[in-house]
Amino acid sequence: MPATPAWPPKSAPRLFVDSPIALDLPVHVEGNKAHYLGKVMRVAPGDAVILCDDTTGEWAAEVVEAGKRHVTLAPRELLREREPVPDFWLCPALLKKDRFDLVLEKATELGVARIVPVVTRRCVADKLNAERARAVTTEAAEQCARTALPELGEPVKLDTLLRDWPQDRHLFFADENGGEPAADAFCYAEGPAALLVGPEGGFDEAERAAIRAHPASVAISLGPRILRGETAAIAGVAVWMAEAGDWIDEE
Ligand code: SAM
Repeated sequence: MPATPAWPPKSAPRLFVDSPIALDLPVHVEGNKAHYLGKVMRVAPGDAVILCDDTTGEWAAEVVEAGKRHVTLAPRELLREREPVPDFWLCPALLKKDRFDLVLEKATELGVARIVPVVTRRCVADKLNAERARAVTTEAAEQCARTALPELGEPVKLDTLLRDWPQDRHLFFADENGGEPAADAFCYAEGPAALLVGPEGGFDEAERAAIRAHPASVAISLGPRILRGETAAIAGVAVWMAEAGDWIDEE
């Protein structure tokens, strides 16, 4: 007797949708997402699609209708509630577009709760295309089977970030000029935290002094070599997740 194939199959495409999902409430997908399902994944009526809405969680949905520009799905089963993510922010200085896309993608995969782009004096860019950035983080969340999208803040000037910094949140400052070894600093710090990382040209002396003078800031080192901004951001987040995030078994 051949085994009944699992439903939904592991290979089912994943998609975030904008409106809250409910059992059997039809979900209408159009535009790029419909093209992805219809043309790229070639879904047909009866096929399964995994849907997430960044609110209720992850659903197994059945394709009811599949056209070139429009796909209708019926949510059949809630598979997982929206996952809790560690209360950790990444505050990366804006970098050149492709490098910043990498930071957005990897920060999403690694489990960051909020990304706050920072504008500093040596930044080569001072604007961020929010729609494009949201598309990058959404695609990364779909790829890594995350059910909660990271919050994406508006780019903020460094002095504004420091002025409005929440009192209860640790501000770890990645400083290539030296600081506490990252793993040590992270594993002893309880509660909400964030990592601030500089641009290609680094922070200037006045900015460094202002950050170091901030009551919530702790300078951390990511080793003896001068890392690119995107490498420092990705490495710093990974160390935090391993030391204080959700890579640790909660016993
Ligand atoms: N200012 C440097 C320069 O001389 O060109 C380079 C800045 S580095 C490319 C970009 C950012 O990555 C720095 O501002 C810092 O936040 C972080 N970073 C790089 N290497 C680091 C290290 N070894 N430890 C801590 N942070 C580091």
